[in-house]
Amino acid sequence: MKTVILGAGLSGLECGRQLNLRGREFKILEKEGQIGGLAKTNVSGDYRWDFGVHALYSRDPRMTDYLRSLPLDYVLAQRRVSIYHTDRKSRRYLINYPFEEGIKGLPFRDWLECVCGYLMARTRNQPEFRHLQDWIDHGLGFGIAKHFMTPYNRKIWNCDLRQISMDLVNAKIHPASLKNFLMAAFGKEVIGRMYQWRFIYPKNGIQALMDYTARGMESRIALNKDVREIVRDSRGWRITTRDGATEQADTVISTIPLVELLKMISVSGLERSYPPLKWNDTYFILVGLKKGAAFSLLNDCHWAFFKESESFFRITMMHNFSPCFPPALVAEITDKNGRDGLPPETLRERVVEDLIRLGILRDRGDVVLTDIKRVPYTYPIPTVDAGPVKDIITRRLERQGLYLVGRNGHWDYLNMDGILSSVSAFMQRYFD
Ligand SMILES: Cc1cc2nc3c(=O)[nH]c(=O)nc-3n(C[C@H](O)[C@H](O)[C@H](O)COP(=O)(O)OP(=O)(O)OC[C@H]3O[C@@H](n4cnc5c(N)ncnc54)[C@H](O)[C@@H]3O)c2cc1C
Repeated sequence: MKTVILGAGLSGLECGRQLNLRGREFKILEKEGQIGGLAKTNVSGDYRWDFGVHALYSRDPRMTDYLRSLPLDYVLAQRRVSIYHTDRKSRRYLINYPFEEGIKGLPFRDWLECVCGYLMARTRNQPEFRHLQDWIDHGLGFGIAKHFMTPYNRKIWNCDLRQISMDLVNAKIHPASLKNFLMAAFGKEVIGRMYQWRFIYPKNGIQALMDYTARGMESRIALNKDVREIVRDSRGWRITTRDGATEQADTVISTIPLVELLKMISVSGLERSYPPLKWNDTYFILVGLKKGAAFSLLNDCHWAFFKESESFFRITMMHNFSPCFPPALVAEITDKNGRDGLPPETLRERVVEDLIRLGILRDRGDVVLTDIKRVPYTYPIPTVDAGPVKDIITRRLERQGLYLVGRNGHWDYLNMDGILSSVSAFMQRYFD
């Protein structure tokens, strides 16, 4: 019985590794010339860089132990993350992340709005929230909404926050307790999102985890195989790639973006597209400095968030992830298809200008290299009505022996630890 896996990101690779351990026959088809998908490491000149932050941590202690047990050359880091804030007079403040636990660093008026808003929200004690915006407004209160959560989330998600379900909060945000909020607001050092406080990172980039996962099954991974059509016939599934080659399979595991899969497959009862399945594409812009140079602000942090009119919503300081990396940052910009007036060809220049304006870069002459990559399907948006649609699609396809797995494959906003545990559960369910 042969299985074909579509995509060699972490999900596809881990599925392959697990099938390999079970002695199954399988092949992985990957469209790009490199494995890793969203978690690959790019090389531009002397600079190795990921698509933004790719830190390894987990809320599940068993997964943390598993990740740490892998024979990779890890750096163990203690999170240093900031939020860039300006007040009415454009004075600059760096707030500790997460915002609710960093507000003691705000100017007094903004601090007061956050504290009053939060306490009023807690007093009202709304039992349930309909969507992300409702939770921000009535769970965190008007101050936190105004000073961070609404502008930042609008910037990264690029959609009305009433469309985003509470799954995002439940799965990802891990809100502060009232006690922690009060202690932090009144000056005590509190560490929010503890599970992420210490993380590990492979010295040569996150690609090392991908290469490790692929070890021993290299001959089963076919690169530059862009899947274009998937047809069910009397012999099973026939998969055709852009170069005209075909593969026959009894079972297909798809980790490629679900909305792309729907366009290339014909299964009765399924549409070609579903409006609730929304996503974002992202531009990643590398700014590499000459050896020995440093950024004039935020140079020591791992990453930082931005909610205002600067082009990026986050920057990742690559040199703080590994002592092997020269000074460089990666800026992330949600692709708004030019609707924000930012033509892609000017983005590198715009990022450098913004870095200078914000005081992060002092001297343009320190920049020796910039690079840009546009990556599609970086963030599947957890919309309020995506769940039922996903259930229908999953059921129909599974009945025919096609399984959906992964961040874009199953349309789950998962991190790498979530990918590994979901693949493990999937394998136990269908392949043991
Ligand atoms: C900006 C950003 C920051 C992140 N930070 C972290 C972090 O700090 N910690 C963490 O744990 N996780 C993080 N993640 C999440 C992590 O990157 C993902 O969970 C993981 O990489 C998803 O793997 P995947 O295999 O499910 O999907 P993908 O990586 O998207 O893999 C899908 C693969 O399918 C291939 N493909 C697509 N179309 C076709 C086709 N037609 N034919 C053949 N192949 C095709 C793609 O090229 C790709 O290789 C981050 C993600 C992003 C975008």
